[in-house]
Amino acid sequence: MAENPFFAPSDLPYELPPFADIREEHYLPAFERGMAEQLAEVDAIASGTEPPTFANTIAALERSGRILDRTATVFFSIAASNSTDGIMEIEKEVSPQLTRHSDAIRLNRALWARIKQVSTEDAEESWLLEKYRDDFVRAGADLSEPEQDRLRALNEELSTLSTAFSQSLLKASTESALVVTDPKELDGLDEAKIESLRKDDGTYVLPLLNFTAQPGLAQLTDRDVRRRLYELSVGRAPGNFGVAAKMAGLRAERAALLGFPSHAAYTVANQTAKTVEAVEEMLGQLVGPAVRNAKKEAEALAEQAGFAIEPWDWPYYSEKVRQARYDFDGSAMRPYFELNRVYRDGVFFAATKLYGVTFAERSDLGGYHPDVTVFEVLDGDGSRLGLFVLDPYARATKRGGAWMNNLVDQSFLFGLRPVVMNNLNVTKPASGPTLLTYEEVNTAFHEFGHALHGLFSQVRFPRVSGTSVPRDFVEYPSQVNEMWVTWPEVLANYAKHHETGEPMPAELVEKLKAAEKFNQGFKTVEYLAATLLDWSWHKLAAGESVADPEAFEAGALEAAQIAFPLVRPRYRTNYFAHIYAGGYSAGYYSYIWSEVLDAESVEWFKENGGLTRANGDHFRGELLSRGGSIDPLTAFRNFRGREAGIGPLLARRGLS
Ligand SMILES: [Zn+2]
Repeated sequence: MAENPFFAPSDLPYELPPFADIREEHYLPAFERGMAEQLAEVDAIASGTEPPTFANTIAALERSGRILDRTATVFFSIAASNSTDGIMEIEKEVSPQLTRHSDAIRLNRALWARIKQVSTEDAEESWLLEKYRDDFVRAGADLSEPEQDRLRALNEELSTLSTAFSQSLLKASTESALVVTDPKELDGLDEAKIESLRKDDGTYVLPLLNFTAQPGLAQLTDRDVRRRLYELSVGRAPGNFGVAAKMAGLRAERAALLGFPSHAAYTVANQTAKTVEAVEEMLGQLVGPAVRNAKKEAEALAEQAGFAIEPWDWPYYSEKVRQARYDFDGSAMRPYFELNRVYRDGVFFAATKLYGVTFAERSDLGGYHPDVTVFEVLDGDGSRLGLFVLDPYARATKRGGAWMNNLVDQSFLFGLRPVVMNNLNVTKPASGPTLLTYEEVNTAFHEFGHALHGLFSQVRFPRVSGTSVPRDFVEYPSQVNEMWVTWPEVLANYAKHHETGEPMPAELVEKLKAAEKFNQGFKTVEYLAATLLDWSWHKLAAGESVADPEAFEAGALEAAQIAFPLVRPRYRTNYFAHIYAGGYSAGYYSYIWSEVLDAESVEWFKENGGLTRANGDHFRGELLSRGGSIDPLTAFRNFRGREAGIGPLLARRGLS
């Protein structure tokens, strides 16, 4: 049997993982050897006889665990994008082991004693040293032995529950899918879409996407089918309610052990928000106006429908109002949004204009699935920058949503250039070109904003590479990149009819912009309701247990004054993967928190002439290239020239 491909660095360009050689049976031995190797390295650091220095302690820790890092990076990328029963089994087995492993390092007393003695004059080193100290304290390094034992048990149980939550959810997207036998029931969806849903047994299966308001609700003309789809969506994976309540309780207990009144307080302490009060003050300014806007919209929808609408009618009639009031039909845009053109002549084009980078497809380099494409990214002077890997299509083995992840972290320490990837969940047509919706185009630009943050990283240490910034900051650069979707020069370059090559009519763009203002109330309320739900679960104090999670959810929304039966949270508790299976617990507020910086930055670009190389270079130099190597709000100030204010955000959301 050939050597396990994880045991040595990849010899492909940019150390792209050798996907063609990786088989499922490689993961467990690689995890095992990776953890053992890192523990031995850490023991050597902790038991060193030389006085502790930055080089022999912090930099040495940064150098440790290479096999584990390579293995985990590939494994979790595959577990998200191309999971199988075998991968799910491995994940179940390995998740608690990884938690134990990370605790074994962070709760190593000899190591912690040495870290506390390190000092350095260098600014980048000193920032990293502080990060390490904070990581260790937050992981329980200062607790007593019995407290650490309890902490280890809590972490392990949380990791097992989180895996269970995410796996039930992945199963629910197809197990709770809408199934019809008569295609007439799918009236409203376009024919290619209907065809793509047909199964061998003659049924049609519409899988659930991960949020409450399924896109089909905007098109399905049969009201009862809409109701069924909606009820399947909000009721999926019901066992997850109990898992979520359990997790919230364990997180509260862990926060108390670490000296915080709640998991929310613990979580925000190392974010740019820093305190629970700061987050609540901001959310407080948004709730009232958002609910008022949504109620106004509801009246317009009821008028359009001619009856009192239900939540499953909202997207359908909001589409109708947009057509009637703004003469705008969202589906009229799709022929102008062909996937390849959107990337090559839109997403990449904007990046070339701003940053001088160019993209070349590398068909000699492959991914883990035939639909994955690899691009080499060259800098303005022709030098090699990194790889961009794109996996655009939905499949049963991929989790919902869209995201960016790194396959190789940039760092000068290892002399590595970044390999970053974007995942989308676009339905692959049975044949012909892939035409995107406007929302999908927006998502493509958004995720590519994260990719640029990873690609432009110019830092010494992997711990602070690229997007390794606080969660309530990380969405900011990606949100800024959305501004180019409708930027005239960019749009004119990519939005061309897939058959005729005709540019998108200017009036369609104008109508889109006008129509976008409608439904902002809905979007803000569904987002804020999810945020406040996350917040309520994670403000529980230790010992407060929740016997009836659905009642808790309803009560939390009521108490936060965001309860509005026609607009449910974007995610209910049972499918809120961000907070129970992702890294966003007590952190869903981050999107709107980052949007303050985003709105300020968009204003800056507009004030300074928009899509220019000079503007791009300024943003890249002060912000994108810094990764997490300096204080994020300092980086923002260096870019913007002042502190951020909430004004531009309120104006944008129609809340001022
Ligand atoms: Zn994002």
